[in-house]
Amino acid sequence: MKLHKKGLNTICTHVGEVVDEKYKGAISPLYMSTSYAFDDVDVKRYPRYFNTPNQEGLCKKIAALEHAEAALIFGSGMAAVSTAVLAFLRAGDHIVLQKTLYGGTYNFVTEELEKFGISYSFTEGLRPADFEAQVQENTKVVYIETPSNPLLTITDLEAIGTLCKKHGMVSMIDNTFASPVNQNPIDFGIDVVIHSATKYMGGHSDICAGAVASTKEYMDCIFQLAKNFGGSLSDYTVWLLERSLKTMGLRVKAQNENAQHMAEYLNGHEAIAKVYYPGLPEHPDHELAKKQMHGFGGMLSFELDAQYDAAAFQKALQLIKSSMSLAGVESTVLSPTQTSHSLLSASERQKQGIKDELIRFSVGIEEPEDLIADIEQALKKIATTRITAAY
Ligand SMILES: *Cc1c(COP(=O)(O)O)cnc(C)c1O
Repeated sequence: MKLHKKGLNTICTHVGEVVDEKYKGAISPLYMSTSYAFDDVDVKRYPRYFNTPNQEGLCKKIAALEHAEAALIFGSGMAAVSTAVLAFLRAGDHIVLQKTLYGGTYNFVTEELEKFGISYSFTEGLRPADFEAQVQENTKVVYIETPSNPLLTITDLEAIGTLCKKHGMVSMIDNTFASPVNQNPIDFGIDVVIHSATKYMGGHSDICAGAVASTKEYMDCIFQLAKNFGGSLSDYTVWLLERSLKTMGLRVKAQNENAQHMAEYLNGHEAIAKVYYPGLPEHPDHELAKKQMHGFGGMLSFELDAQYDAAAFQKALQLIKSSMSLAGVESTVLSPTQTSHSLLSASERQKQGIKDELIRFSVGIEEPEDLIADIEQALKKIATTRITAAY
């Protein structure tokens, strides 16, 4: 039976299971061994070679989820990003990156690449022509992130895939915000797909991991570097991640539905100035999102009306916590100005369209009416503070 060709939730539940032949248990047994006796010297199993039984099983599941030939799991999203990027670049090469990037990736690029003699350019905008404008003779990789953080912009996957094929460059995407449930970039011609598995793949805010999926040829190239950099994931966490992935389809679909509900509610609210969510028809890239995504995701951002204090609003929330990370089953919010984008200058933030009153909302699986009640009580509370303060 070709399990990897089955539907999403069947892949999530079954692909890559480590079969418990002795006891026939329902779940994969956990192999914590770092040392394996030789049966034949061709297979040298060792955690940093990414080939323990649990690692191999989980890699199969992730490859199937991303419609890829192969995958590798890393100790963090950034281990996945840095290893994948450096695998295709050597001294003298150049990489083009989307201007809106996850903060950690931006730091990696601006703080590390020059040490390796690698140059980089960021795009001015997000249209395919903005990427092509930065391509040089020595450009080897184009790196995108869609939907982006925190404004949920959409980059055209098919156009980027085509551009890279035209110039013989490797196309690479950080697919974390969408998750494999909502977006499979390989189907649109993207070569390498990266995830921070700390987010939707883990989904319960208790795992730090990363993943990369691509063709066998490209994954072999990434593996050669990965075993030297040593960013493998502990088998216990591999096992936990396999367990989390079994419910990823269910979780993310519930989060999609809740986010759509919350986006529509916020969009119609008099206290909210603007909502950024690709599932809203007025989102500038709604049609593109519809074309390349199976669902619009669990992330949205919104701006409170100028008369409300965004920091006071976040403090007044009770059920929804202010928190750094995202994609857990619990709803969280953060202010990009105070956290993820605090290192940027005010003018750089303004250039990127990130206002101080912007709030990023990672929508969980709670009942939407309870999330709405929480937002309503917080708005009421800060409205009273404002009036009391005026007296
Ligand atoms: C969190 C995140 C990362 C980095 O992942 P870590 O697991 O924290 O190393 C990369 N890209 C995006 C979009 C993220 O949200």
